[in-house]
Amino acid sequence: MDRSTFNDNYNVVIVGAGPAGSSAAIRLARSGRNVLLVDKASFPRHKLCGEFVSPECLDHLEVLGVIPQVDRHGPQPIHKTVFYSSGGRSFSVSSRWLAKNNGDSIGLSRRSLDQILLDRAGECGVDVLTETSVLDLSVMNGQPVHLSLRSSDGVPHGVTASIVIDATGRGRYVAKKFDAATAARKAGQVAFKAHLQGARIEPGACEIFSYPGGYGGCSQVEGGVFNLCFIVDAALVRSVGSDPIKVLEATVLKNRRAAEVLADIAVEGEWISVPIVRYGSMDPAPSPGIIAIGDAAAFIDPFTGSGISMALESSRIACKAIMESEDLDAIANAYRISHAAAFGKRLRTCRALRFLSNSPKIADAMITGFGTSEPLRRFFARLTRSNPLTEASVK
Ligand SMILES: Cc1cc2nc3c(=O)[nH]c(=O)nc-3n(C[C@H](O)[C@H](O)[C@H](O)COP(=O)(O)OP(=O)(O)OC[C@H]3O[C@@H](n4cnc5c(N)ncnc54)[C@H](O)[C@@H]3O)c2cc1C
Repeated sequence: MDRSTFNDNYNVVIVGAGPAGSSAAIRLARSGRNVLLVDKASFPRHKLCGEFVSPECLDHLEVLGVIPQVDRHGPQPIHKTVFYSSGGRSFSVSSRWLAKNNGDSIGLSRRSLDQILLDRAGECGVDVLTETSVLDLSVMNGQPVHLSLRSSDGVPHGVTASIVIDATGRGRYVAKKFDAATAARKAGQVAFKAHLQGARIEPGACEIFSYPGGYGGCSQVEGGVFNLCFIVDAALVRSVGSDPIKVLEATVLKNRRAAEVLADIAVEGEWISVPIVRYGSMDPAPSPGIIAIGDAAAFIDPFTGSGISMALESSRIACKAIMESEDLDAIANAYRISHAAAFGKRLRTCRALRFLSNSPKIADAMITGFGTSEPLRRFFARLTRSNPLTEASVK
C-alpha cells in the first residue's frame, strides 16, 4: 500500500499480523472501525508452528470468510492425533472430539494461512503496513495512544489510535511496556521446525513423539509436504552447537516410533528455531487502550493445546468487548473477565499434561491409562479446548 494514502489517526491500530491480529482486523473493519494493521515481517513468510489447525479454528475461518481460500490451498485433513511414548506405546485422540462441530483438523502451512487472513483484512478495508515496526508508543489516560512506526526503508511515521491491540505473539512487544518490571529470563527450551519430504507417518494422522525433556510432532500440510516441529531443553541445544540435525538425533529420534518413520526424511528449505521463555497468561489489558490478544495474552503448551484456536478466540472476545463499549476501562474489564473464563481451565489442563509427560515413567503410565479408556481420552481432549461452560458462538 502506498504510504502517502495512510491516515494519521485510526480507531484501532493492531500490531502483529498472525492469526490473532489479522482476524481482529477483519472483525473490527467489518464493524465499521478504521483499522491499521502493522507487521515487521515481509509476507508471505514461514512461521514456527506445528501447523495443526484444529477443528474449532474452522468455525472462526468460516465467520472470517476465508474457507474458499483455505480450500484452494489444498489443506491435508487430519483425522486423529497419535501420542507415542519413547518405547513405542501409543494412544490416539480423534480430531472429532476436539470441537462441538465434530469436524476434522487440517494441516495447512502458516505461510498460507497467515497470508490468507492478511489478504482478507485488506479486502475488508484494513490499511496494512508490513515490514514496519513500532519504535515507541506513548499513552496518557483518556488520550489517544501515539505510536511511532518505522518501515524497512527507515522512514518514520506517526499515528494515533483510541485502542492499540498487541498481537505480536509471545514477545508481547507492546503490552510488555506496561508490565511490572521482571528480571529478564533465559529461555528454558528451544523449538525447531522444518518442512520435510519422506516422513512415513500414518496417512491422515498427526503423530506426537515424547522423549526426555520434550516432545515433537509430525503431520502433513498442503502440497504433500510434512511438518516436523519439536521442543527441547535449551542446554541440550547449546551442547550440540545448535545444529538442528544433531538436536533431532539426540532427542526426537530417541523415540522408537520417530526413529522408524523419520529414517529417510529430506529437509526442504531452512530450519526455523525460536526460544521458549514462558507459558501461561499475562495481563490481557495492561493499560487503558492497550489490549493483548493471541500469544501476547497467553501462550498455551502446543503439546496438547491449540494456540491458533486461542489466537482466533481471544481476538473474537477482545473485538466483542471493543464493539460493546466506548469506555476504555469497561472494555478492559469485560475482556479480562471473558479471557479468564474462556482460557483459564484449558491453560491449566495443558500445563499439567506437559508437566506429567516430562517424566518418561509417568508418560508411559499416562499412555497406558489413556490407551485403555476412550471416555477418559474424550474427557481430557475436551478439557484442552473450549471451556464447555463459556462455549458460545464464534460470531
Ligand atoms: C513449537 C510450537 C508448535 C506449535 N504448534 C502449533 C500447532 O500445531 N497448532 C496450533 O494451533 N498452534 C501451535 N503453536 C502455537 C501457535 O503457533 C501460536 O499460538 C500462534 O501463532 C499465535 O498466533 P498470534 O497471532 O498470537 O501470534 P504470532 O503467530 O506469533 O504472530 C505474531 C506476529 O507479530 C509480528 N510481530 C512480532 N513483533 C513485532 C513488532 N515488534 N512489530 C511488528 N510486528 C511484530 C510477527 O512478525 C508475527 O507476524 C505452536 C507453537 C510452538 C512454539
